[in-house]
Amino acid sequence: MTLSFRPILLELRHPFRLATGSRTHTNAMLTEIHFEGFVGYGEAAMPPYYGENHETAAAFLRRVAEALVKLPENLKLSGSSIQLILSETDALALGNHAAKASIDIALHDLWGKMEGRPLWQLLGVEPDKMPPTSFTLGIDEPDVLRQKMLEATDFQIIKIKLGSENDHQIIRTIREISDKPIYADANQGWTNPEAALDLVHWLAEQNVQIIEQPFPKDDLDSAAWLSARSPLPIIADESFQRVADLDRVADSFHGVNIKLMKCTGISEGFHAAKAARAKGLKLMIGCMTETSCGIMAAALLAPLCDYADIDGCWLIRNNPFEMPILEEGKIRLSNTAGLGLKLIF
Ligand code: MG
Repeated sequence: MTLSFRPILLELRHPFRLATGSRTHTNAMLTEIHFEGFVGYGEAAMPPYYGENHETAAAFLRRVAEALVKLPENLKLSGSSIQLILSETDALALGNHAAKASIDIALHDLWGKMEGRPLWQLLGVEPDKMPPTSFTLGIDEPDVLRQKMLEATDFQIIKIKLGSENDHQIIRTIREISDKPIYADANQGWTNPEAALDLVHWLAEQNVQIIEQPFPKDDLDSAAWLSARSPLPIIADESFQRVADLDRVADSFHGVNIKLMKCTGISEGFHAAKAARAKGLKLMIGCMTETSCGIMAAALLAPLCDYADIDGCWLIRNNPFEMPILEEGKIRLSNTAGLGLKLIF
């Protein structure tokens, strides 16, 4: 089994402004795992705030490549053998969550192709339960937001980045042009719980449906205070990465945002979804700025979730894979083998 990888700079259609800063591109690493004439595609999408980049990913993936090449040639790829391989790669180094996800995704895609079946079938996913995905608008001036809304016509839900001093203005601008439901993400940008609660009450009146990550990720006390009083579900994103974090955040939020690039991939993502449900938490499936590869992998988890925000590949100019198909604002899981990806360049 051989692993190859290549760095790519994903160019954003619009500079993306969050409470934590602005950016025009995201580092990603595309992986391919070759085995018995088949190829599985994977991806690591690495926003700067989680500390991974082309160099860290390449260093980690070189070690994984050495381990994969030693696997027996008669290995039968299956859900459980993938699990074993992933446990070994996870133990190679701490962190490297996105790089680990790129291995997890490629192995799953490979498995589906070798079985000649769509991955969603192999994993027992129910496509009928696919929730609509939101389309994210970064913080921007009203004229730019109006322009971006035109690009969101295929989506039924808008996701807005809040956490600046203009939160009311941003929502009012969106409401002048659309009455679609809104998911709001403060990206750790709020600091005062009582002011946040006032804002959340107002947002609820504007048909905002959830609030993501209101306060800095380690401020669980403020999150718990707000969650106890909020009329809207409060969802942990930056405060929650891997399944092991659930115990720490479960009492402070109503739900968690699972992202493959945080939780090391499809395998742990399913595990986290099940464990979070067992704790009575709501589930959101999210993404980074990603290609169709990461998005189609995340879409496998979406039917288990209450909310989906897996629009990353619609936000970039240079998606190296064919775009996913949207039907009534929902991503359609492919009926071709594996993830159903078609590499263009
Ligand atoms: Mg978020």
